[in-house]
Amino acid sequence: MKQIPSINKSGPQPQKLAALRQAHRDWNESPDVLTRLTRRLSTTLSLETQLAILAEEIASVVPYDCLTYRHTIASREFVYVTGKGGPHSCDYRLNLEGSFYGTLSFSRRQKFTEQELEGIELMLAAAICPVRNACQFIAIEQASLTDCLTGVPNKRALDDALSRASCLGDRHGEEYSLILCDLDHFKQVNDQYGHVVGDHMLKLAAAELEKAVRNSDSVYRFGGEEFAILLAHTDEVNAREVGDRIREFISTIVVDCGDTNVTVTASCGVAMRLADETADQWLARADEALYRAKAHGRNCTRVFAAISN
Ligand code: GH3
Ligand code: MG
Ligand code: MG
Repeated sequence: MKQIPSINKSGPQPQKLAALRQAHRDWNESPDVLTRLTRRLSTTLSLETQLAILAEEIASVVPYDCLTYRHTIASREFVYVTGKGGPHSCDYRLNLEGSFYGTLSFSRRQKFTEQELEGIELMLAAAICPVRNACQFIAIEQASLTDCLTGVPNKRALDDALSRASCLGDRHGEEYSLILCDLDHFKQVNDQYGHVVGDHMLKLAAAELEKAVRNSDSVYRFGGEEFAILLAHTDEVNAREVGDRIREFISTIVVDCGDTNVTVTASCGVAMRLADETADQWLARADEALYRAKAHGRNCTRVFAAISN
């Protein structure tokens, strides 16, 4: 078993405390570049900020024209570039304890000398742990915003997006519409064909929704068999068309279960955001429209009109 060091309770230790105060001063005021680099990197978990610090500190020792960092984190390409490149470059793969944390390239007009390469490498060695932490932070943050079954953003991500859209809507008068899309009689799919088929269908539904909308629109798994689609620059007339298109895409899903082909339909509720409306109020109107679509017999789209006639 690991021994926990015992705490010395023999009273004040003036010498040790003075040494600690001195170490604190050295740590904060040291002109040595490695201490300053590690101290600055330890203040942030933002990969972008860390790369800006690294770029600045390396440039203070080894001049270069361009630094490029690339890494795929949680299926997304992260690219950070400073300046314009030159014909001479040096490239590094950042590896730590068997894991890869991106590539880093420096380029400039003159060749890098051996001493300069050694200097860059010493600084990268000091930066690799903080960079690893920042990469892992992005991956964890991304996972916390992603639905693990379908791979689309989850309810938490939707809450963030609705707040952002509400701010932009109020500040710049941009139009946003929200569609809630709920699979019809989905409980029956699970009951008749089992959860594995149900899960498979949810994955296919998410994929169809992403195919059905523009790149500027985003699809979220709102809960169980319900999805939300946030449409930028879209009024309720266009959003209704998107709702109908979404339903068409969902109706093309066919799951082969041996003796039967299982299909599904969806109902959609649409609400365009009103000025000064809170995210909750907006969501509640889309939900009410969805309720009306269900009450109307399902497999249809209903709009909670912004202006009632
Ligand atoms: P309605 O047309 O009124 O929406 O009927 P429904 O059966 O779709 O709605 P209900 O709310 O009665 O049931 C929702 C079903 O969705 C029940 C639940 O088993 C299923 N469901 C929710 N989440 C999941 C999931 O992650 N995987 C699977 N396989 N099924 C799920
Ligand atoms: Mg349903
Ligand atoms: Mg539902």
